[in-house]
Amino acid sequence: MSREPFIVLVLLSLPLLAISGQTPVDVHRNKYTPAQDVQLGRQAAAEVEQQQPILRDGEIDGYIDALGGRLVDALPPERRNPEFRYSFTVLNQQELNAFALPGGPIYVYRGMLEASNTEGEAAGVVAHELSHIVLRHGTAQATAASKFQIGQVAGQILGSIVGGSTGAIIAQGSGFGLGTYFLKYSREFERESDLLGAQILARAGYDPREMAQMFRTLEAQGGSRAPEWMSTHPNPGNRYETINREAALLRVETTPRRSTAFSSIQARLRSIPGARSTPQQTRPVSTGGRRRNSAGRSVELPSSQYRTVQADIVSVAVPANWQQDSTDAHLTFTPAGAVYQGNGVSAFTHGIQVGTISTQSRDLASATEEVVRLFNRSNPGARSSGSRRDTLAGRPALRTELTNVSEVTGQPELVTLSTAQLRDGTLLYLIATAPQAELRTYESVFQRVRQSLQIND
Ligand SMILES: [Zn+2]
Repeated sequence: MSREPFIVLVLLSLPLLAISGQTPVDVHRNKYTPAQDVQLGRQAAAEVEQQQPILRDGEIDGYIDALGGRLVDALPPERRNPEFRYSFTVLNQQELNAFALPGGPIYVYRGMLEASNTEGEAAGVVAHELSHIVLRHGTAQATAASKFQIGQVAGQILGSIVGGSTGAIIAQGSGFGLGTYFLKYSREFERESDLLGAQILARAGYDPREMAQMFRTLEAQGGSRAPEWMSTHPNPGNRYETINREAALLRVETTPRRSTAFSSIQARLRSIPGARSTPQQTRPVSTGGRRRNSAGRSVELPSSQYRTVQADIVSVAVPANWQQDSTDAHLTFTPAGAVYQGNGVSAFTHGIQVGTISTQSRDLASATEEVVRLFNRSNPGARSSGSRRDTLAGRPALRTELTNVSEVTGQPELVTLSTAQLRDGTLLYLIATAPQAELRTYESVFQRVRQSLQIND
């Protein structure tokens, strides 16, 4: 008797599905709240906007806002999230790319708008990106990642800016984290965004087949204008056919739009000078008004006793008196007095940090170079004498030493970056930092910490 209502529900749901026709697309398990999506997206957007040139043009801004707004208005009621704040920004870059951040921000590269043959094609890309946001793929992906990786993502992005030269590498690392955690999704998520995107397009009065056509347009681009979008949005297989099949199930709500606005926007874009194609104009990661630390600060000497800390995929022994960062996220270990905090900035002058970074390259040497390059970008004064072969946790590793002037103390410091790869190709790093003047004390400590590291992936 108690099961009766359940049976009734099941029977009711069948005809509903059959009537609506479209493929159901559901949200995944997600341990974050929608408010956290918004917060993560805001933090990430602040980084993006520091690093990428924004095309500021009233006409184009107005156009992309109207296009995006039309798609947001067409969201199915069950996919509306009142907390989300959508924004649409055109980046002054020729790349064929677009991406979405959790909670609302969408970025479209001008190259993408210029390459679209019709407004519907451009709308197709925006609808796909919008779908990643409403399906909360960024945080769903972080939910599915290992605890260690979640900590890394949330720590790097929510923890925001870590000051000092060591901090710069970490904060820059979150740029990597962005690129891989929030900008690159599984094929399953891609398929879902294609499907929901097609459904949104139809509701907004666009022919969803134009979205399928856009992916053809992108595929057709090659050579020097390789479509970055294709590498961050992997084809789930038969993308073109799947979207067209879905399109056949959908009814376009109004007469398909035929707007002359799009061609005038393209003409306007062609008249605006482009930014350099690669974002070399990156400013150092904001230091938020960091102040030099007062002199005479005392840092507790490392204990000769060690304790072993187990954190998901790594275990590491550190001096017993070193404190672990309160968010297990960072896996930062520092002596008392070595952490500088002020104006929302946190940095350490002595200690170690273990973390992972998903790099573009799967080759240890190139992946390490990527990290060093980013470090140098925000610390132009840092000098590296190159990397040498090493082992870390029994794996082939590289050790790179960087000399720098600490932004906290103004004193010369040595940053030692050790890198090795996890089984899945993710780069694991161990950063050790101490002032040059105190290396005699810290070098042997760092060596012992490195030797104790074990990876269990
Ligand atoms: Zn995608």
